[in-house]
Amino acid sequence: LSPDEFRKLGHKMVDWIADYWSRLDSFPVRSQVPPGSVAAKLPVHPPEEGLGGEPGWDAVFRDLEDVVLPGLTHWQSPSFFAYFPANASGPAVLGELLSAGLGVQGMLWSTSPAATEMETRVLDWLAELTALPASFLSTSATGGGVIQGTASEATLVAMVAARERVRGHGAPANSQWVAYSSTQAHSSVLKAAMLCGVARSASDTVHVRQIETDAHFALRPDALERAIREDLAAGRRPFFVCASVGTTSSGAIDPVRAVAAVLERTGVTASGGWLHVDAAWAGAALVCPEHRALLDGVELSDSFAFNPHKWLLTNFDCNAFYTRDKRALLDALSVTPEYLRNAASASGAVIDYRDWQVPLGRRFRALKLWFVLRHYGARGLRAHIRNHVRLAEHFESQVSGDARFEVAVPRSLALVCFRLEPLAGETPEATDARNRALLDTVNATGKLFLTHTVLPAVDGGPPRYVLRMAIGGTYTEARHVRAAWEALSAAAG
Ligand code: PLP
Repeated sequence: LSPDEFRKLGHKMVDWIADYWSRLDSFPVRSQVPPGSVAAKLPVHPPEEGLGGEPGWDAVFRDLEDVVLPGLTHWQSPSFFAYFPANASGPAVLGELLSAGLGVQGMLWSTSPAATEMETRVLDWLAELTALPASFLSTSATGGGVIQGTASEATLVAMVAARERVRGHGAPANSQWVAYSSTQAHSSVLKAAMLCGVARSASDTVHVRQIETDAHFALRPDALERAIREDLAAGRRPFFVCASVGTTSSGAIDPVRAVAAVLERTGVTASGGWLHVDAAWAGAALVCPEHRALLDGVELSDSFAFNPHKWLLTNFDCNAFYTRDKRALLDALSVTPEYLRNAASASGAVIDYRDWQVPLGRRFRALKLWFVLRHYGARGLRAHIRNHVRLAEHFESQVSGDARFEVAVPRSLALVCFRLEPLAGETPEATDARNRALLDTVNATGKLFLTHTVLPAVDGGPPRYVLRMAIGGTYTEARHVRAAWEALSAAAG
């Protein structure tokens, strides 16, 4: 495409996206197509001839409507309440477009100083907005932030840094490493342990210990302490703990300060052990002072990560990862072949973010965060979070005010876990089945989309199948949440 043809098509594509956002309400939220139906509309072989310029692109726009749209689950729909949100926004998408248009690859400071220096600055801004401790800022002696693709990569990077640091404290390379999280932690902790060879398999409960939780599904520090002491007595090497602030199932908050105290008491901290805080979803709420109690003790952690790509108006992918020990990251991840050597890196005066992540190459993702922070400002971001939390409070009060339903666990920020109450004499399996049927019924309408989880047994009760209402769409308003409640209420019979 010539620059002029690109301009025309670009305008058309931006128009298409803007129209898409304006008609989000008109699509079934969850894609309704059967497996294989999208593939069936695509040619088996690649085209021999290209489109031949701008007019040929009409076919592409037709395919967007006929092939792509039916096969989408509309994550940006205002009635998308499934999983956790992955909300986008105009400013973020413009940043993404610009990043692609500039096409720079910021692996080294010298390969585009703007990419590195802007990333450093916007992550410091974000740290200030979320009131993270000064030890995580780039202006501290040993800390700093970096954009990772995902929370999973953040956990992996923290884990390899942890192992390197504990090795530096004299642990032999063939130690029986042990990583800990709660039973409710995200599966990415186990995956990270598998990737770095700590876990021998997905069912290795010796080297990845999932610690029991309390009545609110938060990690129990007493159980963690017992597990660590057992492992130490058996000659194993506790080296990494992941505390979850906002678990995926129910938004539970692990007590970071008490977890850090356990590591201190058991000598794990003194031997280089690492505490990582995974706040993938809940971290965005820290822009509001009223939610900062969630992070009590974070200054005692070694790293902290959250996903602006979940709930902070920044399209996927964008994980903000902070550490107060960047040296450990560099020790674990820095490899310098001759072809990457350059004077700026050798001077030690610049950051080369390739040493803070798994891949070498990296996009200029700071642009989209920069646009989001500038467009909304701190005030706009706070309003965004508060709106969703208010809507969730209202939804929770409707659930608890209806005798057919129960709130399964107290609301966490904008996540409400709820279910149909057991009927008199009903077996737990039958209650679960009615809840599953309710979820299937409302999702089949296409008017909204929720997902479920199973909460573990508490106080001798059985595990419970519950529905999750995760509010966080960029375009979600009170009327969408009201309509969701009406749909659930009607389907409940
Ligand atoms: N950690 C938590 C607590 C999550 O809820 C999720 C995803 O929902 C993840 C990690 C994984 O996120 P990502 O897709 O960014 O790896």
